[in-house]
Amino acid sequence: MTSTTTTPRSAAGSVALRGVTKVYGQGGSAVLALDGVSLDVEPGEFVCLVGASGCGKSTLLNLVAGLDLPSGGRIELGDANPGLMFQESALFPWLTVEANVEVPLKLRRLPRAERKARVAELLRTVHLADFGRTRPHQLSGGMRQRVALARTLALDTPVLLMDEPFGALDAMTRDILHDELERIWSERRLTVLFVTHNVREAARLADRIILLSSRPGRIIWSTRVDVPRPRRIDSPEIASIAAEVTDRLRTEVGRHGQ
Ligand code: ADP
Ligand code: MG
Repeated sequence: MTSTTTTPRSAAGSVALRGVTKVYGQGGSAVLALDGVSLDVEPGEFVCLVGASGCGKSTLLNLVAGLDLPSGGRIELGDANPGLMFQESALFPWLTVEANVEVPLKLRRLPRAERKARVAELLRTVHLADFGRTRPHQLSGGMRQRVALARTLALDTPVLLMDEPFGALDAMTRDILHDELERIWSERRLTVLFVTHNVREAARLADRIILLSSRPGRIIWSTRVDVPRPRRIDSPEIASIAAEVTDRLRTEVGRHGQ
């Protein structure tokens, strides 16, 4: 959940980065996190961003979300602010599931009856229709991420930014959430920019995988995943794409002597 100050210029649902650079700090302690990243994401495209830890993946997502400003270059979005989801669900623990999902609807000043109807619909979408009255601590990690997804969808934005959203979940739960996310993405024709260091997850989900170099983050390689959907994470096609990405990633990490 966030807003951005980036000037709207492009088609709804598109995301464009033009020579985006990000420097943290100043002088001798300055860190160049991103260096001239250019990227065009088409409306409705599912793009996975992979790279070693610390290569600038979260930085890139935060810049697109408008949580931080680039040091150089620019970011062009359609007229809607993107929704952002993290590894931790970041739900309000004192609010029920319903009330959590309702927050963006209240911020958008929807009338009460409409809010209630939208919350019910969103909870059905993430298969939590019976859990509206529970509180986050009563739910499993996977269920909390479903709530976070419903809350992000409540923004009604065409662009979803996801920063390792399933990174803390067990493989089985992650597998189910991949199916759910794929269904929601295709039903709602969302544009998704999804960060992960899990190459299988990237191959399972993405139309296109983008590889970032170790610091400073630059786009060093990308590939289209032309495997028909629905996909299975344990299928030979996905495994072979994941193996190729792993090779590229190994070469990159090796180049940095880590
Ligand atoms: P990733 O998400 O790929 O692990 P990050 O985008 O979090 O990488 O970080 C990229 C680099 O920028 C790292 O070296 C990190 O230490 C540094 N960095 C991230 N955020 C800040 C910040 N607020 N201040 C200073 N350095 C930061
Ligand atoms: Mg990160």
